[in-house]
Amino acid sequence: MPTLLLTHPDCLLHDMGEGHPERPDRLRAVADALSVSAFNALKREQAPSADLAVIERVHPERYVEAIRAASPKQGLVWLDPDTAMCPKSYDAALRATGAAVYAVDQVMSGKADNAFCAVRPPGHHAERARAMGFCLFNSVAIAAEHARAAHGAERVAVVDFDVHHGNGTQDAFWSDEDLFYGSTHQMPLFPGTGALSETGVGNIFNAPLNPLDGSARFREAFQTRILPALHNFGPDLVLISAGFDAHREDPLAQIQLTEEDFTWVTEELIEMADKHAGGRIVSLLEGGYDLDALARSTAVHVLALMQASS
Ligand SMILES: [Zn+2]
Repeated sequence: MPTLLLTHPDCLLHDMGEGHPERPDRLRAVADALSVSAFNALKREQAPSADLAVIERVHPERYVEAIRAASPKQGLVWLDPDTAMCPKSYDAALRATGAAVYAVDQVMSGKADNAFCAVRPPGHHAERARAMGFCLFNSVAIAAEHARAAHGAERVAVVDFDVHHGNGTQDAFWSDEDLFYGSTHQMPLFPGTGALSETGVGNIFNAPLNPLDGSARFREAFQTRILPALHNFGPDLVLISAGFDAHREDPLAQIQLTEEDFTWVTEELIEMADKHAGGRIVSLLEGGYDLDALARSTAVHVLALMQASS
């Protein structure tokens, strides 16, 4: 079974204005990187829009309606100091979440071994009733709930190697022992959550890194904390919040990873998914703000997924 690649043109039309780091060119850089012949074996599909009922498994109806109602006819509306909506942002967010949900459908039903969603806006900072940190809907949390509600998955894990802590995913999973959240991230850094002591009901595994930490500390965090916990949890499905802003060239943080580290962590997660989840992985693009580093890192991540599925 192939690796599925989902994206949608609407995700290019979400534009928070000149100079914003979470910009359409990010997705163009990813698309260019995945357009070369090494990626010919990908099964490429356009992301559908998420159904509101599926989004409302995580976000209250009044929140979803407030986001829709906030959509401007022209110009920008700011939801927080970092997060704006333009006239196409709501549609883009529905496609981003829809990609994640559709990818779960395809992987859980055996039509694809694994999947990568090249979408924006990202989602892991969106809390149940609060947009923040460039995020409107928490696509990865919605995908996890969808896997349970629509496909009978009993235990779903999210592993988040974005350089920022996924406070929204942690918030959504906090009191549910059948959902696992494991994260490496720089501390101190936005959004300020993600301390070792934040453990939910024993289902949250934070592994904060110090500014200037690199490959060794990153891999140690996975080998000593996140991977053993994930092994104990035994997921039916592994979701990845794949942010590539822990790359040494990224302008928003100071972690010093290279592409080799993203290959390594992807292969470790594939091994874990093979052991427990029949190889089922759905990976979603979160951050990554240096265009070249983002393109190279996404390429090695997707190549590893393709090698796992061939
Ligand atoms: Zn990030």
